[in-house]
Amino acid sequence: MHTFTIDRSKDRPDPRVLLHRSYYVNDLPRLMPLCRLFGHKPVVDGYDSQYGRSEERRKRWVACDRCGVRPEPQGDLNPDEWPLGTPYTGPHNGRLLPRQAARQLAKRGITPAYPKNPGPWPTNPTGGLAAELVIGRSHSIGADVKVGNPSSENVLAAHIGLGPAGALYLSSERFGTWIQRRLNNEGYESRQTGFSIHHGRIWWNLWAHRDEHRADDPKWMRGTVHIDPRHHLLGPAKNYKVSETEKVPVTVYMPEGDTHDVLVHLEQWETRRTRGRARTYWTAQWDCKKGIPVRNHDWKGDETYSCAWGIEGVTPDNPRWPYILAAKAAEQCTRDRARYGYRAPEAA
Ligand SMILES: [Zn+2]
Repeated sequence: MHTFTIDRSKDRPDPRVLLHRSYYVNDLPRLMPLCRLFGHKPVVDGYDSQYGRSEERRKRWVACDRCGVRPEPQGDLNPDEWPLGTPYTGPHNGRLLPRQAARQLAKRGITPAYPKNPGPWPTNPTGGLAAELVIGRSHSIGADVKVGNPSSENVLAAHIGLGPAGALYLSSERFGTWIQRRLNNEGYESRQTGFSIHHGRIWWNLWAHRDEHRADDPKWMRGTVHIDPRHHLLGPAKNYKVSETEKVPVTVYMPEGDTHDVLVHLEQWETRRTRGRARTYWTAQWDCKKGIPVRNHDWKGDETYSCAWGIEGVTPDNPRWPYILAAKAAEQCTRDRARYGYRAPEAA
């Protein structure tokens, strides 16, 4: 068993987040008290698919119906002889070649046949548990529970989000297989049940496919209702763009000394409910074709190309508005550079 934690707040420092950390326990022995008392309960597991190469479309192997542990090797049974879900009554005499021998054969271009029969049960099956805790601002309000599918890495997962107070995520690796096998042991779709609140609505899932919306999904599976009373009293809110300025070229001067040509413009928007007063506001936007670098090198990309934001007190009436936006763009990119620890090319 080994444990470790990762401090997630380093990725994105936020003064409103007091703690954001992940905790992991790996190689945790699985208890499986019934299986230890009575032995495992071998059944035929596998799948029938319409896709893939013909010899890959139907597969059968052996797993314990209670704890989900598979023998080593798991076997490769004849689908015509072994229907899915039936008890496995055959021998456990399959053996994998020792790794060294397999490597020697592979050097000569020989791939030994994968054992047809399953092998012995593993003596010390293990699993893992993980948790992620946020104290302070989190980005979710809601709760849900996930039940994985037979090929899920995480068998069970749950989450509760309390908005500005924090959030907690839990997940298990191999623990909880008994529940998963009872509830969701066919196909490749995890199931999710829970609710979330955002954009003035409550959204729910009831045993819904987690990653896929299908046309034939029953209506009860997902839904949403407005919970903002203004929606019911005054009607839905709609946003319209009323006007916008020309795009004006300006130069952004970064404190590191680099300069960037950007286009800035202002947009006037109006938000209004069917039976309510209109509210107008201005938003600002800058665009830079070549991008302004904010990271040195990162898989997420290291340039910022554009940004739009709400802005107060800057309207086209102020003749210097393009310069104010250029300064804002420099400020925003400077903050990003600080966050990502950017070093100017000369200094790198
Ligand atoms: Zn078992």
